[in-house]
Amino acid sequence: MADAKKCAMDGCLCTVSDGQKYCSAYCEAAEGLTTLVCECGHPACVKL
Ligand SMILES: [Zn+2]
Ligand SMILES: [Zn+2]
Repeated sequence: MADAKKCAMDGCLCTVSDGQKYCSAYCEAAEGLTTLVCECGHPACVKL
């Protein structure tokens, strides 16, 4: 019903549960960095 929320980290394609801002501790730590590549390890972000 409600739209899935995306992780707040730029470059991360993961969705997060309601009430969460980041999908992982990685994204929470990386949010202030200039990286455009997410390495949270979730399938949505793994690009080989
Ligand atoms: Zn990610
Ligand atoms: Zn994320």
